[in-house]
Amino acid sequence: MTYDPATEDFVWLLRHVTALRPHGDFDIDTVAQVLEEAARLAAGAVAPIAEESDRVGSKLENGRVVTPPMWKDAYAAWNAAGWQGLALPEEHGGMGAPFPVQAALTAMLAGTDLSFAMLLGGSRAGAALIAAHAGEDMKALALPKLASGEWAATIAMTEAQAGTDAGLIQTRAKPLGEGKYALSGSKIFISNGDQDLTEQTLHITLARIEGAEGGTRGLSLFVVPMWKMDGDGAPGAANGVWVSALEEKMGLHGSPTSVLNFDKAEGVLIGPEHSGLPLLFTMLNEMRLDVGLSAVGLAASAVAHARAYAAERMQGRGPDGKGPVAIENHPDVQRMLSLMAALTESGRALAMEAARLIDLAEEGDGTAAALAALLTPVCKAALSDQAFAVASLGVQVMGGHGYVVESGAERFLRDSRVLALYEGANGVQAIDLAVRKVQKDGGAALGALTAAMRADLERLDRRKDLAAVHSAAASAVAELEGACHALIAAETGGAGALAAAYPFLELTAHACQTWMWLRMAGADAPDDAVLARKRALADFWAGYFGHAAEGHYARVRAAAANPEMYRAALS
Ligand SMILES: Cc1cc2nc3c(=O)[nH]c(=O)nc-3n(C[C@H](O)[C@H](O)[C@H](O)COP(=O)(O)OP(=O)(O)OC[C@H]3O[C@@H](n4cnc5c(N)ncnc54)[C@H](O)[C@@H]3O)c2cc1C
Repeated sequence: MTYDPATEDFVWLLRHVTALRPHGDFDIDTVAQVLEEAARLAAGAVAPIAEESDRVGSKLENGRVVTPPMWKDAYAAWNAAGWQGLALPEEHGGMGAPFPVQAALTAMLAGTDLSFAMLLGGSRAGAALIAAHAGEDMKALALPKLASGEWAATIAMTEAQAGTDAGLIQTRAKPLGEGKYALSGSKIFISNGDQDLTEQTLHITLARIEGAEGGTRGLSLFVVPMWKMDGDGAPGAANGVWVSALEEKMGLHGSPTSVLNFDKAEGVLIGPEHSGLPLLFTMLNEMRLDVGLSAVGLAASAVAHARAYAAERMQGRGPDGKGPVAIENHPDVQRMLSLMAALTESGRALAMEAARLIDLAEEGDGTAAALAALLTPVCKAALSDQAFAVASLGVQVMGGHGYVVESGAERFLRDSRVLALYEGANGVQAIDLAVRKVQKDGGAALGALTAAMRADLERLDRRKDLAAVHSAAASAVAELEGACHALIAAETGGAGALAAAYPFLELTAHACQTWMWLRMAGADAPDDAVLARKRALADFWAGYFGHAAEGHYARVRAAAANPEMYRAALS
């Protein structure tokens, strides 16, 4: 199995493009050491589980979930090194690392076995939510255990009748007094609803307190432990929470996707009553960027896998008529490999830019917060779509062998498919971007984004060596500004905006990734092999996608002006 943690590239980005703000002991040299060490462990102890994870999967046996056998040692090794607590505050048992370092680690881990990475990601997001909104007792009890990996956390939101539309959630909560509630109901699709690696699982659950109004406004947020606890958190008897079935899925076989039931399960309210959904967004936002980061992590391994194969597979003749030659010498194979690398590396840079903005937002920078909110759905949706496209190209590079399970390439394709679905389906991310983040904001955050792009265009205006990527970026920014005006002119949340939302998200992602190529190619970095590769890929991007923005903008205009066109096409 080929695994590429892309450590060198993450460190290069943090040094030269999405610069890391100094945080106490976490200067860039320390961060480089941290990432190299984590990548070594990921390669040695986690990546080798991927094949078994996919083949054996998690199983439900006698009412408990049994994870693939190799997971135990990998989980123990990861936690013994302390990586699960990397970004949690030191006072809660973590290492207090800045968010961009955690972001790089999230991507690195996803490139091993996405199923395993999801268990750790869910717990991390749960810890972030508890740290932000839970009472002091819950923080003191749960955070050190989540940091050490002794406990896990899940997000339990989806129900059979309530997917995208959380307002349809029916799980009920009956007050028991002193902030405690008895929850009853059934959730579906809950990742890691149970597993055999931790002594406790905290289910962060959306439910409706008896008598609360319908819709999202009546929802409250609870921490529901799998096992009852004593005052010190020691797990005891069952708490009326159990898994009754696991889904059989296209991919992600290691991850137990559970039907999770609550029967008068005792839970603790987080935050005020009826404010569940806004609070949960702390977790969802982080998980959505995690999806984008996971997408680039998985794509990196798919690229490495395809490149290794293309260097060895001998077929056909070279330009001199001699052969057979390695297929990496054929222009069409080179096209596919370049496309895979260019999408992955610009996606990585964009996700790290979002991570940089989140880090600034945590310091109270309002513009950075608005930009991070704008880029979150873009990273979630565009990078997950691209990971699937990259994985598909990886299969194509391997020809018929790529379609065979033994090749390892088709796992990337199956596993990556879910990234466009969970944490809010991609179509809904596009609506979030177009309506909430652009229309309702009057285009202010998007204006700040295009202003940042224009500042870089001006800064690098005289660089003749960057002319091609500069021109592609200038055209993409202009088209994005035009599309923003078209969107603002349309009725807020109206049919035109909803119809144009996806092409608008694609245009935004394209403009952002072209901007990333300009920044990477123009980076003030040593003139070495990395910079040379970045410049070559930037030239490829400009040549291949230099006119793509016009097509995206045309689709935004067509859909905004005639939202009926899709329905008409189906008549
Ligand atoms: C492997 C896996 C793991 C998961 N893990 C978890 C988990 O841990 N916790 C959890 O709570 N959930 C989890 N989910 C659920 C996941 O978040 C939902 O599947 C997702 O939010 C979409 O809901 P749905 O499947 O009901 O699709 P639907 O809401 O039925 O949507 C179907 C389609 O319609 C579109 N659509 C729906 N509403 C609109 C609208 N208003 N406007 C435009 N388009 C719309 C969607 O974009 C989508 O394409 C998981 C799902 C999977 C597959």
